[in-house]
Amino acid sequence: MSGPVTTADVPARDDADRPSTHPQLELLEGRATEVGGVPVTRLLPKRQHRTVGAWCFADHFGPADVVASPMRVGPHPHIGLQTVTWLLAGEVLHRDSLGSEQTILPGQLNLMTAGAGVAHTEETPQRAAGTLHGIQLWVAQPEATRSGGAAFEHHPTLPQTDVRGVTGRVLIGEWAGVHSPARVDSSLLGVELVVRTRADLPLEPSYEHAVMVLDGVVDLDGTTLAPGTAAYLGVGRDEVRLVSDQAGRVLLLGGEPFPEPILMWWNFVARTRDEIDDAYRQWEDRDGRYGEIASHLERMSAPRPQWLPLR
Ligand code: MN
Repeated sequence: MSGPVTTADVPARDDADRPSTHPQLELLEGRATEVGGVPVTRLLPKRQHRTVGAWCFADHFGPADVVASPMRVGPHPHIGLQTVTWLLAGEVLHRDSLGSEQTILPGQLNLMTAGAGVAHTEETPQRAAGTLHGIQLWVAQPEATRSGGAAFEHHPTLPQTDVRGVTGRVLIGEWAGVHSPARVDSSLLGVELVVRTRADLPLEPSYEHAVMVLDGVVDLDGTTLAPGTAAYLGVGRDEVRLVSDQAGRVLLLGGEPFPEPILMWWNFVARTRDEIDDAYRQWEDRDGRYGEIASHLERMSAPRPQWLPLR
């Protein structure tokens, strides 16, 4: 998917949000928008919380009829982040400037690492019918890898385990002793939980956490959550109570609070305006930084950073 992350999501300043220092329960209302023809609810970044661990972006897309609104996200660049794509229904064809071409199905994970630069497309395959439903998340890369090489991973199956009546499928990191095979560049957790009962689930107290409902309704510590709203839990929690009697499906995200202030603009995660300016110009100038993708879809044009003087 593609941003753009705009000033509707976060102010275009490079000051950091206040890091959480204690357990809490704060509801973050998603913002309805549209990406590549598909209705999405943007749950991260938020003004109050730009990151949860290194998670810095979350677009919950669909459920949408793919014939009426097929996904058509044309060639666009990324820097400094990883894209994590997870489907509940439908399929998406991913192509990138590394030469990857991969269709993703529900229960599978696509993980693209941008590093210093990559370009990709995402689209509904021609033959697809029915419903598209899923989420795309971005992970901010730490200093150690953010200027490194691009990469793409597809994981056709992910490990799962049952804990206290809850089935967890581990996308990223480790949960209940089960490890995802996916690459991680920082201490990070992403696990899909299917809740069929009332369960007190352990959390890593040094992480900050958030919960996003993907499907159904789930009660979290006495607060009812539905799709479109995220619950920010702060750091220092060792447990969370989830209750659902209808197989509610949530994503539990966590990680060590990201120590580096990030600057997000459009599809770029950087540290300074100069880095964003370079990323913007090099995409517009087609200077080769991001490589090329042959696609029938229209190449996206990067919006001019608003702090740049007009030429
Ligand atoms: Mn993208």
